Amino acid sequence: MSSPNLSQIYESSFATDPPLQLLQSELQHPQSQPPPTLTPSRFQGPVTRFTHLPHSSFLSSNGHLETALPSAPADSITHDPIHPVFRPQNFDSSLSIADQAYAAMRPALALATKLITTDEALGWWIHVLYGEARNDGHSHAYANTGAGAGTGGRPYLAPNALESNLSQAKADLAARWDALSSILVFYWRASTVRGRSVCATTASNALQVLCELRGVPYTPPSISAGAGVGAHTFSPRIGLSSIFLYHLISPVARQARTACEEMRVQMYLAVTLVHELAHVFVESVGFAGGYEPYIYRTDLMPEAGFSWEIWTFGVILGCAELSTLPFGTLSVRTWDMGFAFPSLKAPVHMDWVKAWFCRETWGRIGEVLRLDLLVPASAVGRPEVFIADRYFDGSWNSVLYRARGQIYEAVPFRDGDFGPGPDCPVEVWFSEVALQDARMAIENGVSSVEDFPGPFGNVYKHLQT
Ligand SMILES: [Zn+2]
Repeated sequence: MSSPNLSQIYESSFATDPPLQLLQSELQHPQSQPPPTLTPSRFQGPVTRFTHLPHSSFLSSNGHLETALPSAPADSITHDPIHPVFRPQNFDSSLSIADQAYAAMRPALALATKLITTDEALGWWIHVLYGEARNDGHSHAYANTGAGAGTGGRPYLAPNALESNLSQAKADLAARWDALSSILVFYWRASTVRGRSVCATTASNALQVLCELRGVPYTPPSISAGAGVGAHTFSPRIGLSSIFLYHLISPVARQARTACEEMRVQMYLAVTLVHELAHVFVESVGFAGGYEPYIYRTDLMPEAGFSWEIWTFGVILGCAELSTLPFGTLSVRTWDMGFAFPSLKAPVHMDWVKAWFCRETWGRIGEVLRLDLLVPASAVGRPEVFIADRYFDGSWNSVLYRARGQIYEAVPFRDGDFGPGPDCPVEVWFSEVALQDARMAIENGVSSVEDFPGPFGNVYKHLQT
């Protein structure tokens, strides 16, 4: 069986894709005005309204959106070399604008390269490479993406003494990357496929992409009887949402964009790329049963991408809203908010984003990581500012709260909408109000129980803590 032709497969899925249609119309009629939002229906998720996000005056005046950037190009890493895994020929070019998009994502590729090649950033990858597959004997159920559920303990990777030998590990990593660089394909995917909207996805091969687009269950070869070769072969595909494509090359969006906003797009894309690469890397190492294990025993779920983000940044990175224009603030959340809705997050200061593109940061990255010099933001304890999904006035709203003394007020202030009091950590307050809000939303018929996936999301919903 020959590998399906992806360009034919996803041509139909692009036919009604809002970001791509908008992009095409802009490219044909460059004079058109920027629309207020890219996809007004958002991710078809339950949030129906964003209150003064992402561009509230509060975020603007507090450095979450704009800051001074280095003027000398040499101070930035954006023109540094790109790892072969991100080489141009690894990007599917069926779309006529794909080459233009590749050129526009150069800063993201340079940053992603730093994140997978800098000695001090390699610990996670080395642990995956050498970690010993064990089972924690936990009595709770274990399940993973699409591959069915199992019981009888959680597979995890125990530390291995080999991990401390950096020079050998680097050689072994290089060989692994060489192999991956020759088979990995990045492709642009429609922003929504069969009602599901995510910014990026990873597949083991083109057949899995095909199954996803056609809505047919994909059965991994390791657990299917008599699986053939060909399309089943490990030939990983990373799909990137066309919303990124829009942000990268829309003449309308780019013309109105500040350098800081551009940097946020690039940072979010870089982290997304490496997050997906983490999944591919784990699969390339191969673990019994084809399941993705818990990378560390302390991980909350077997989600290699989140595991890598937590290892590297201490938080999971997100954005206020991928489909808004302008592209707003980046945000961070904790493991237990991984897939949760409603969720609690903190907007990231622009200086934090800038630092990752500064040569100086990478020049002393060991110290930066060891001493926690790049603390992103926090959505636990008593943060200076946080964002909470709240239900009121018959809809879900993403509300920004800021500290005023030790009392939080919502921005914009809504009568009676106070955040946690001075003695209450925000996560404790949130766990209570989120429950009340969810109940109210269900009573009003705005949301259903299915809309509240909790930390494990719908993919990992069979997991228990
Ligand atoms: Zn992931």
